[in-house]
Amino acid sequence: MNASNDFDMIVIGSGPSGRRAAVQAAKIGKSVLVVEKGRRVGGVSVHTGTIPSKTLRETVLNLSGWRERGFYGRSYRVKQNISAGDLMARLHKTLDHEVEVLEHQFSRNGVSTANGSGRFLSPHEIEVTGETGESRVYNAGHMLIACGTRPFRPDYVPFNGINVFDSDEIIELPKLPRSLAVIGAGVIGVEYATIFSALDVSVTLIEPRNSFLDFIDKELIEEFMHELRDRNVALRLGAAVQSINVNDTGKVVTSLADGRLVTTDMLLFAAGRVGATETLNLDAVGIKTDHRGRIVVEANTMQTSVPHIYAAGDVIGFPSLASTSMEQGRVAACHAFGLQPPPPPEFFPYGIYSVPEISTVGMTEEEVRKREIPYECGIARFRETSRGHIMGLNTGMMKMIFSTKTRRLLGVHIVGEGATELIHIGQAVLNLKGTIDYFIENTFNYPTLAEAYKIAGLDAWNRMARP
Ligand SMILES: Cc1cc2nc3c(=O)[nH]c(=O)nc-3n(C[C@H](O)[C@H](O)[C@H](O)COP(=O)(O)OP(=O)(O)OC[C@H]3O[C@@H](n4cnc5c(N)ncnc54)[C@H](O)[C@@H]3O)c2cc1C
Repeated sequence: MNASNDFDMIVIGSGPSGRRAAVQAAKIGKSVLVVEKGRRVGGVSVHTGTIPSKTLRETVLNLSGWRERGFYGRSYRVKQNISAGDLMARLHKTLDHEVEVLEHQFSRNGVSTANGSGRFLSPHEIEVTGETGESRVYNAGHMLIACGTRPFRPDYVPFNGINVFDSDEIIELPKLPRSLAVIGAGVIGVEYATIFSALDVSVTLIEPRNSFLDFIDKELIEEFMHELRDRNVALRLGAAVQSINVNDTGKVVTSLADGRLVTTDMLLFAAGRVGATETLNLDAVGIKTDHRGRIVVEANTMQTSVPHIYAAGDVIGFPSLASTSMEQGRVAACHAFGLQPPPPPEFFPYGIYSVPEISTVGMTEEEVRKREIPYECGIARFRETSRGHIMGLNTGMMKMIFSTKTRRLLGVHIVGEGATELIHIGQAVLNLKGTIDYFIENTFNYPTLAEAYKIAGLDAWNRMARP
């Protein structure tokens, strides 16, 4: 570990992008300091975002017996009366383990850490102030801003930590509500809405726009919406929120612009996040942010307008995923120290851990049509697979899109059990520029859900002109 105040690189934030950059730089022999203001390393990803929400989901699916209900009926439960405590127990255990792995990764690679809030004093100097007010100044040749985001908290929402929460707070909820309003049908809102619905909480999902998850293939979203309605999730699309109040009985009353009222035990406000840049003193280095606190970078290098200062992760905006953030961190560290990482593959997968899962890679049918590429689609339903029968799956579908000109795979879109794992087969074929023939000619393990690839491939093949 470096005991001095001088480093080759200082990283502000220990989330996926900061951690990957720090380890990459350390692996090539550079001295790195990671500054983290949270009590423990890991970032939003470990403490309030990815891992907590996915752990909560897994716990809910296990304790509710969700995956077995296709066979044993909708009233099947593994545990009756699931409490917030049941959910928290597994959450804390998982998070402790994640942090431990991370701390070990830092110490194994000789990455130094400083606990406190970092702010720029000058382009090469960072002041780190701890919780008790003590501060220390560090210098480095290269800087990486990996500070991530925080929930957007508009004034009209009466956040109270009791029954009106943002998406960082919801993971520590004191007790399970009987009814929940979720405002914002983005990825986070949809995930939590469907996780709570799987716990038999009566959920209303409110979104001011007429559609949601617009980057996903429309046919998939139709399938998804059908399933949500079937389990009584109330969708209020095209419904702007006029006001939110907690009434005398402690209920949360959300008034919509169309005059409707939604009265629930609890409300989750999940309509966006903003870059956590306001305390970085970016004026000292001349870096500007947009209205959501985000920083613009050069896409291939992650450099900001100040060449030795890089930014990566959610603070640079879309796609705001832990998976892509890690790659951005690696690219920044490589560029800073003169390594040339290969260009990232054209397509990366998107996973939405709703119940049911959604995952997608490549072009949607809407994009293919817009680009005027001649195409054909193949559809497989999970209930057509033997694995699906064994698992009692009544829902789940895969859609593949192929070019009828080149026969190449253009996109894979999956909604249903295991979607976020299954997608990687499609991702590999897509990035290796494979064609429909891969799915027709290859043998797949049987019985598996991956067999859906063959079924969807054959479905498209049946409609395509033969070579
Ligand atoms: C509810 C939720 C669910 C999600 N689910 C998924 C998912 O399933 N899959 C997926 O790929 N992505 C998911 N994401 C997104 C994922 O969490 C983010 O893309 C990822 O965490 C971004 O990483 P980052 O490197 O930008 O840093 P972050 O994880 O955002 O961490 C930034 C860190 O910087 C620290 N920091 C900020 N300012 C300072 C400062 N001035 N000084 C010192 N430290 C500072 C913060 O304390 C924080 O620890 C989810 C996000 C949320 C909110």
